[in-house]
Amino acid sequence: MNPVTTLIEGAAKFGIALSESQGARLLRVLDELDDWNQRMNLTAIRERPAQITKHLLDSLSVQPFLRGERICDIGTGAGFPGIPLAIACPEKHFTLVDSTAKKLKFIDHVAQLLELANIRTVHTRAESYKPDERFDAVLSRAVGPVDQFVKWTGHLIVGGGRLLAMKGRYPEDELKKLPNGWKLAAVHRLEVPGLDEERHLVEICRSHDKI
Ligand code: SAM
Repeated sequence: MNPVTTLIEGAAKFGIALSESQGARLLRVLDELDDWNQRMNLTAIRERPAQITKHLLDSLSVQPFLRGERICDIGTGAGFPGIPLAIACPEKHFTLVDSTAKKLKFIDHVAQLLELANIRTVHTRAESYKPDERFDAVLSRAVGPVDQFVKWTGHLIVGGGRLLAMKGRYPEDELKKLPNGWKLAAVHRLEVPGLDEERHLVEICRSHDKI
């Protein structure tokens, strides 16, 4: 199948109406990733079908759960899930944070090339990040246990905001160690087309927030 069609049909399973042009831009991200990967180690996933599934569709799978306009992706690496979400949701603003500067250079390059005005990058560690304005949601994929994620990023969300951790298996033990003042708001089991692995999105909120 044409890769743009794979993306459009895959995104439709999450309720996302991706245009041909958004599909083409998403694939252009992978072309740039392959190019930069020859000079620096940005991703170990080098086969195109796996890149489409694990980088693009896996990133897009959380889009239905993003509330609010100001979203932060902590430990974004080469821009996942932040870049695909910024392409799919041009009305939201994405701040992509990582402690490794070279990965952010790649994101800045892609944002400029694809004219993604809704992406900005910040080079810092999550726990020492002091944004001018806090976020409606803070998201992360593959950046350590949920309890640690909450400790590192709890200060970054507005009242009523959500911390969203993208996990493989249901992280039962990590959820038992949530710091005081935080609770589990929801867990969503995600089905990523073409991916034969478990995926869960864990939503955490402040203890006094209504669920
Ligand atoms: N989220 C990306 C993905 O799923 O492809 C990258 C995941 S990679 C395994 C973890 C990333 O988190 C790395 O790029 C690392 O530099 C970053 N990182 C680790 N600890 C961090 C911290 N305390 N603050 C900000 N970034 C951090």
